[in-house]
Order: sequence, then C-alpha cells, then structure tokens
Amino acid sequence: AVKTRFAPSPTGEMHLGNARTALFNALYARHHGGVFLLRIEDTDRERSRSEHSEQLQRDLRWLGLDWQEGPGVEGGAGPYVQSERAGIYEHYYDRLIAADLAYPCYCSEQELAIARKAQQAAGQPPRYPGTCARLSADERARRAGEGRRPTLRFRVPPGQTIEFNDSVRGAQRFRSEEIGDFIIRRADGSAAFFFSNAIDDALMGVTHVLRGEDHLTNTPRQLMLLNVLELPAPAYGHIAMIVGEDGAPLSKRHGSQSLRQLRETGYLPEALCNHLARLGHTYEQDGYLSLDELAAGFALERLGRAPARHDPQQLLHWQKEAIQHATDAELWEWLQTHRFLHGRTLGDFVPQEQTIAFVQAIRDNIEMPVDAFVWAANLFAETDKYDPDAQQVIEAAGRGFFAAADAEINAGHEDFRTYSKAVGQAAGVKGKQLFMPLRAAMTGELYDPEHGGVWRNGPELGRLWELLGKPRIQRRLRRAAA
Ligand code: GLU
Repeated sequence: AVKTRFAPSPTGEMHLGNARTALFNALYARHHGGVFLLRIEDTDRERSRSEHSEQLQRDLRWLGLDWQEGPGVEGGAGPYVQSERAGIYEHYYDRLIAADLAYPCYCSEQELAIARKAQQAAGQPPRYPGTCARLSADERARRAGEGRRPTLRFRVPPGQTIEFNDSVRGAQRFRSEEIGDFIIRRADGSAAFFFSNAIDDALMGVTHVLRGEDHLTNTPRQLMLLNVLELPAPAYGHIAMIVGEDGAPLSKRHGSQSLRQLRETGYLPEALCNHLARLGHTYEQDGYLSLDELAAGFALERLGRAPARHDPQQLLHWQKEAIQHATDAELWEWLQTHRFLHGRTLGDFVPQEQTIAFVQAIRDNIEMPVDAFVWAANLFAETDKYDPDAQQVIEAAGRGFFAAADAEINAGHEDFRTYSKAVGQAAGVKGKQLFMPLRAAMTGELYDPEHGGVWRNGPELGRLWELLGKPRIQRRLRRAAA
C-alpha cells in the first residue's frame, strides 16, 4: 500500500513551496487509496518552534490535507515528532559505531571553514577532509579532554556507485568518492536531518517521497545509510522548484506570502489547491477541480522537470473559480470570519435574515472578503457620500428622474423589472439612462468602466432591489433628488 509523508521542519511559516510538497504527497496517497503521514522534523532545537508546528498543522487542515497518520492520529509507528524519537536514533547510532561505520568528529567550525577555503582555492568541491576519521583512542581522549564535544560522522564507503531511479527525474547516479563523511549527529546530541529523515521514512513504512529538488543530493547519502542499516528505502522523487515570473526562486519579492497571510487576505483553500496542483504538474482538465478530482488526476508521469512558474494572476483566477464553486452558505461562512476596519465583520452590516440574499447578490462581484465588506458597507450603512462617477451620473439624470423613481416606489410593483419599466416610462428614459442613475442612487457606487464597466460587473439590480427593500431605496432616491 502506498504511504507518503510530509515532513516539515517547524522553523518558520508554511509557504507556497512546502504547501505544494504537502499537496503532492497527499494527492498521491489519495489517488492510490493510501496513507498520508505527517512527521514533524524538529531535531534542530535552536530553530524549531512549537508555534510553527501548531500553525503548520492548522494550515494543512485548512487546505483540506488531513493526515491519516501523524500527530494526534496514532498509526503504530509513532511518535511522529522527531524530538521525541531520540532513543530510537541512539539505537541506530550505536549500531553504526559498533560496525565502525560512524566516528566522533572533534573538528571545530573554524577548522572546517579553513579546510573548505583551502578546497575552494584548489578548485575542489567542499568535502570533509577526514581529519577525525582515523583517530586513535588516545587522540580522541585528548580532544575530549580539551572540552570538545564531538559530532558523529558517517564513514562513507569508498568506491561505491549509488544509483536510483528518481520518480520524477529518472535514473540518477552518484559516486561515493564525491561525498565526504557527513554528520549524522550534531554536537548537542540531536539527529542531523539526513539521518533522522531516512530512518523515520523506513521505520514508518513510507513508500514514496516527493520533495524539493534541493534535496536531490541528499538522497545518495540517505540511501547509503539505509543500505548499511538494512532498512528499506522509499521511492524518491524530486520536484522542480517554484520560481517567480523572473525565473528566480520564489521569495517575498514575488509577493510570496505565508499560508497564514494568504488565508487572512481571504484566499480560499480550494483556490490554493487548484493553483499549487498545477505548479509542476499538469492536468488533462483545465477547469476547477475538487480535491478528490485533483487526486484522481494526479500522476508521477505528469510531474515536470522544468521550474514551475508562480503567477499571482493565476492564483486569482482559481480564487474566482473557487468562489463560483462554493455554495451561498459556504461563502457566507468564509466571509463572515474576516475582520475589517475597526474590527468590524460583515455581520455588523448585513442583517441576520439577509445574509444569503446578500451573498447571492454580490457573489459574482467579489474576489476577496474585503470586496464583500465594501458592498456591505455601501448597501447597508447609511452613508451620504457618492463616489465621483456616481455623483456625476446622478447630477446628469436630474431631480425629475429621481422624483419619478421615488413616486413609483409605492406604486405596488412586484419586482424590479416592472418597477424600472414604470420609472423609464414616467421619466422618458431607457437603457443606460435608466439603470445607471438607479444604480448610483441605490449603491452610491459605479464601477470604473476601465475595469469591466458597471453593465457587466455590478451586482444585478434586481437582486439589490430585493436586498435593500423599499424603505431604504426610497430614502436613497430622495437623497439623490435633493
Ligand atoms: N524536514 C525536511 C524539510 O523540511 C524534509 C525534507 C524531505 O521531505 O525529505 O526540508
């Protein structure tokens, strides 16, 4: 059975890059009816924070990427937080030490930096020079006596070729000569990433790993470790990095925000999933897909090797799609959790019994909750300001028009269609001359025609008519006539 995992280090907030890694692994597991596992890789004590760990679990749940095994979901291979697995790692360190496949290294940071510089000057790749590889017991004791705390290094077997078939990038080949003995336990006793990551994948029964291309050169190291410990290796696949539109790795400069920021801005999780699932992976269908559909269409063969370009406009496109695919109730649920100026929410404006009617009226006219907020304020707060375009249209229509519109309000019209027809006849106008001033008076706003224009983009007047109700509309018509 397929088991994938997401193994974040809780050293910062979740961004688009690691969210996509999580998504791909979750989709692959779901596609095969397998298990998606979450493991927290917090062995770096200095940089790991429990707030980050908690936040990223919230982020995952928000995205809809619930794990079937991991923190809070016992699956028999726990604990799923690496800081709680020190005893397990010790067992494997002992085995490597006993087999002389690992040795203590007393080199200081400074000494290592000097060696790296020398290698660089000689045009060689930086690699551990093996200073501590063959120390006698006496030499070790002397260094320990100086108060040096050793790291533990893996003794890379010479003359080996490490080959594996990357699920994305195809056949890979590394020579062990190119790889210096590497640290598997830090001086503070904590496990190094290479080590705990590989051991845990094996012990937790992970079958497939999809991770960033930046980990590709770690894989031969991890395969060597698993090999000497006679532990099973997962199938590794390294996915291309996400880049900005200028081709450089995605960063804040490209407006790359954390998942928390994106959520707070008002992006819907479905929008992010549709966007991310297409960064480096292609689908047959162009259209919006649910998580289940994204999983159904997910395949390793569809993963690309070229860097994936993040285009914020594309994300916005999926946001609009996600809004279209949500029900009125879901949209209200989403909108009303957001707070705006002075901590106000939509509920402060939209009457309880009109929430769904409100959503129906504006749902085609919003991209973010703040847009809904602007509509709510325009429609329900009694303001005496018009936007300049609205002001102009109102003045052009003239008092006579609004007097006629006012008079028809109480003439018993069933709906906006019959009402507006009657106003048109009474005032002797039709089309734009009829609807624009009505809209301006009713909402105080006209869309900038540059951005699509009021005719296409404003909420349907019929719905606004229902939503506002006759007394409110009448007040606004009278104000326009004044
Ligand atoms: N903790 C590692 C990271 O966040 C996991 C890498 C992997 O997926 O193997 O980069």
